[in-house]
Amino acid sequence: MRLLLLAPPGAGKGTQGERLAAWSGAHHIAAGDLLRAEAGAGSLLGREIAAYQARGDLVPDRIVLDVLTPAVVEAAARGGYVLDGFPRTLPQATAAAELAARLGVGLQAAVYLHAPEAVLTRRLLDRAGLGRRADDRAEVIRHRLEVYAEATAPLVAYYTERGILVAVDADQSPDSVTAAIQAGLSALPLTGLRNLG
Ligand code: AMP
Repeated sequence: MRLLLLAPPGAGKGTQGERLAAWSGAHHIAAGDLLRAEAGAGSLLGREIAAYQARGDLVPDRIVLDVLTPAVVEAAARGGYVLDGFPRTLPQATAAAELAARLGVGLQAAVYLHAPEAVLTRRLLDRAGLGRRADDRAEVIRHRLEVYAEATAPLVAYYTERGILVAVDADQSPDSVTAAIQAGLSALPLTGLRNLG
């Protein structure tokens, strides 16, 4: 399976990405995690990435593509991919489509998780209480939601036009969201998706 998860912060991309990968045998590629790993390595590039992440700004497309492309190429050759948090801008979407075409492994579905902004904010603030992520702070959370609305939300129309968008209400329990995604994917007329699960 080759799909991506498109969702605002707090919609449950990470959880659903892991579940979809386990369900389908595809590789879960979490853009934020890969970038955080690079940031943690302490290289010059890593320090640059860390600064963008701490502010809740998007890391520049050029850096994202450099970090993500090898993982996507490898996953495409071994059972497919679940892209979680990539692409997040139209130029990234175009670059990802070109890469997929070059590899002969096009995207089969874009799963769009949506929830009211008040729900997303509450979930992110709850997560902030756990203290796991430096960018889960009230003012950074607000900024990440703005960045999503401006840079990433246009991808919903992009994938709708391409006929591969599966929209799912993320304001339900994780199990209900997973079931809704699986039902949505099964309804897509794409080779290889019907026989899953
Ligand atoms: P996430 O773990 O998906 O919430 O991502 C955390 C942070 O990593 C984001 O706020 C951005 O700073 C950065 N990031 C993750 N994915 C991307 C992407 N595709 N393009 C640019 N920046 C990204």
